[in-house]
Amino acid sequence: MLAVPASLLDIDMIFLDVGEHSPAKQVFAPKSADKAHINGAFSDPTKIRELAQKVDVLTIEIEHVNADVLEKVEPSLPLGVHPSPSTIRIIQDKFVQKKHLRSHGLPVSTFLQIESTKESLEDAMQKVGLPLMVKSRTLAYDGRGNFVIRNQSQIAEALAVLKNRPLYCEKWVPFEAEIAVMVARSTTGEVRSYPAVETIHKDNICHLVFAPLRHKDPVIADRARAVAEAAVKSFEGAGIFGVEMFLLKDGSMYLNEIAPRPHNSGHYTIEACETSQFENHLRAILSLPLGSTAMKVPSAAMLNVIGASSDLEEVKSFASFALTVPGASVHLYGKGECRKGRKMGHVTVVADSDAELRARLRILLDHLPGPKD
Ligand code: ADP
Ligand code: MG
Repeated sequence: MLAVPASLLDIDMIFLDVGEHSPAKQVFAPKSADKAHINGAFSDPTKIRELAQKVDVLTIEIEHVNADVLEKVEPSLPLGVHPSPSTIRIIQDKFVQKKHLRSHGLPVSTFLQIESTKESLEDAMQKVGLPLMVKSRTLAYDGRGNFVIRNQSQIAEALAVLKNRPLYCEKWVPFEAEIAVMVARSTTGEVRSYPAVETIHKDNICHLVFAPLRHKDPVIADRARAVAEAAVKSFEGAGIFGVEMFLLKDGSMYLNEIAPRPHNSGHYTIEACETSQFENHLRAILSLPLGSTAMKVPSAAMLNVIGASSDLEEVKSFASFALTVPGASVHLYGKGECRKGRKMGHVTVVADSDAELRARLRILLDHLPGPKD
């Protein structure tokens, strides 16, 4: 998705990823041999150095990268590394990230450092209460890395599921809704937020996004944007950031986590906003003027297409069906293998009203692969 606006703006890109035919490489053909994509892990120092020698600016689409090597290569790059390796390092450890946010006076719920022992978890339960959200500090995504302890008898299971991972825990937040705001930050530090959206998760995976956020109190959406902008200002470097938040019944909000990259909650911007999150990411890291973040349609939703099994045909046939729904735009990621729980693509739906949007979305939901609920 980053390769598409890059191509339109005639910006060359070189991707480092394991697969020779990984999704981005399928989209962006190198214009000469010296601009060939690189096959390798984004944690591999040699491969990162190889990439750094070929580009003017280096950026990331996943935070689980080797921040130390990025820091080392940064001085050799004409336009640097964005976002800053220090930002990536803070964010990739969720516990360090939470401490950073708290130390900048930003709203976060109670969290605690813990050890991977029964005693430490019992102590945390005493201090924080139940349910207790136990999280891996690193390498977590789509809920893989979280365990909710609802009663004392689950401690052993939590330790078994999260074994060998560095842990911390959080107080359970009884949120009314989960919301998110994308924020673009330029190399001069200017920030521009997108409209607040509501995100709906299923089995810990983002299922739906509704844009803009509809709330009985119209102040909430602006407040969410202000909190998200303040959070992003606390980090170094340019680029797009996804800010996940919990909205409570009393209208207060807590930051959940920040992604230093394009984010699933911002995919709707491709069809629904004046400038997509991907294009604004490119503009931000290249010191080009940031584009308008305003919506250009009254109502939008994004539905993730998640594998229900290993059958790629299920996904393809859903995608074909989605093409029949007015206002729906289909994105298939070209991932070679389908797996249960794997994000295979998404569909964005736009409409002239919320009612029309819901009607269009209903048809799509009824045809999603997998069990209905
Ligand atoms: P991931 O890295 O997998 O996105 P998150 O920390 O965002 O992990 O957690 C995934 C989901 O779990 C959240 O979107 C939210 O639904 C739920 N969650 C996370 N932390 C809490 C919490 N402290 N209280 C209640 N729900 C939580
Ligand atoms: Mg999350």
